[in-house]
Amino acid sequence: MGAKGGVATTATVGLISLKKGLIANAGLVSELPEFEAAGLTPWKDFVVGGHEIREVGSYDEAWRLHAESRVIDGGVLAKCKGDLEKIEERIRPGTLLNVGSTIEKLAGPEVRNRRESLRQAIERLQADISAFAKDEQLAHVIVVNVSSTEPAVDPATLPASWKDLNKLIDKRGCPLPASSLYAIAALDLGYSFLNFTPSLGASAPAIDELARERGTRHMGYDGKTGETLLKSILAPMFAKRNLQVMSWVGHNIFGNMDAKVLDDPANKQAKVTSKDRLLGQILGYQPQTLVSIERIDSMGDWKTAWDHVHFNGFLGTPMTFQFIWQGCDSLLAAPLVLDLVRFTERAWRNGDVGQLNFLASFFKSPLGVEEQDFGLQFQMLQAWARRLKS
Ligand code: NAD
Repeated sequence: MGAKGGVATTATVGLISLKKGLIANAGLVSELPEFEAAGLTPWKDFVVGGHEIREVGSYDEAWRLHAESRVIDGGVLAKCKGDLEKIEERIRPGTLLNVGSTIEKLAGPEVRNRRESLRQAIERLQADISAFAKDEQLAHVIVVNVSSTEPAVDPATLPASWKDLNKLIDKRGCPLPASSLYAIAALDLGYSFLNFTPSLGASAPAIDELARERGTRHMGYDGKTGETLLKSILAPMFAKRNLQVMSWVGHNIFGNMDAKVLDDPANKQAKVTSKDRLLGQILGYQPQTLVSIERIDSMGDWKTAWDHVHFNGFLGTPMTFQFIWQGCDSLLAAPLVLDLVRFTERAWRNGDVGQLNFLASFFKSPLGVEEQDFGLQFQMLQAWARRLKS
C-alpha cells in the first residue's frame, strides 16, 4: 500500500535492478554472509503489485525521484522502465477511509469520490489481493504498508478481541484507519502484513488475534532507517559506560511528500512518539527529550538530522555529543522493505505465526519487543536464522 510513493517506488526499482543484475547488494541485510544458509528466496521469485490513491504514473514518480533528489540513477531507471510499467498495471485504487484530510487531499478523483463502507473496502481490497495472487500464480502475498502516515489512533481505545472489533467494523463511526483495513484484508486471507509506518496497521491486539486465528503473521511498526537507528546504537553506549544522559534533542529537516503529510500536527504526532519512545526504554530512565520534524521543501528526499546529547561524566562534569546525519530517505528505507519481505516469506515457509519479533531491528517501535538496543535486536534475527527448519 502506497505503491507509487518514494519508498515503494525505490524498492520496486531496486527489486527490478537486482533481478536484472544492474546493482550490487549494498544496504541489503538479507545479503549478509550470516544469512547465506537461511534458505531465503532469490529476488527473481518476487512479484510486485499494490494499491495507491494518487493518479500518477509509476515511471514518472521514479523519474521525479531522480530529477528532484538524485535518488535513482537515470541510467538504471531507463533500463527499468518497461518492468515498472508492467507492475503499474497491477496497482489498484486504494482506500481513503479514516486517513484524515491531509492524506485525502493527495488522492485522485476516482478514489476520492468512491463511497463504500469499511466492510466493503476490506472486501474490495481482498478481491484485488486474491486476483493478484491468482493471476501471478503466487504461493504467498506479503502486504507492506509504505503509505502516508495517518493521524494517530490509540489501540487501547479499540475492543480487545477480534470478535468485538469485527462487529465494530459494521458500526458508524468505527475509527479503524485505512492501514488497519489493509492489514485485516491481508491477514483474514491468511497472508502476511508488515507495517513500515507509525500508522495503526495491525498493532491493535484484536488484529493480532485475527492473525493468530488465521495462522498468519505480521510485524511493525515504523521502519528504523536513520536518526532513530543511530539512537538505538548510541544510547546503549551511554548506558553501558554509566554516563547519565540528561537531555537528547533531535531536529529533523526534509522536504519530500512524506514531509508534507507530516507537516500536519495530527499526522506528525504518531511519528514523533515513535521516534521518542526508545531512549527511556534503553536507558532505564527518561532524560529530557525533544524531537522536531520540519518540512523544508528544497531538501527533497534528503533528510538532515542534528542530534545534541547532553550527558554527565565522571565527577558530574557535563559533556556534549553531537552528530549530523544526512541520508536519502527513500534509499535508506527501500532495501529494508525488500529485506523485510524476504525474511517474512521465509517465516511463512517456516510456519511462524503472530508477531515476527525477530524483525525488531528493522523497526522504531517493534511490536511485542521491549528490547530497543540495536545490537541485541540484530542478535534476535541471527538466532532466528540459525533455528530455521530446512
Ligand atoms: P510518500 O509520501 O512518498 O509515499 C506515500 C504514498 O502512499 C503516496 O504515494 C500516497 O499517495 C500513498 N497513500 C497514502 N495513503 C494511502 C492509502 N490509504 N492507500 C494507498 N496509498 C496511499 O512517503 P514515503 O517517503 O514513501 O514514506 C512512506 C511511509 O514510510 C511514510 O509513512 C513514512 O513515514 C514511512 N517511513 C519512511 C521512512 C524512510 O526512511 N523513508 C522510515 C520510516 C517510515
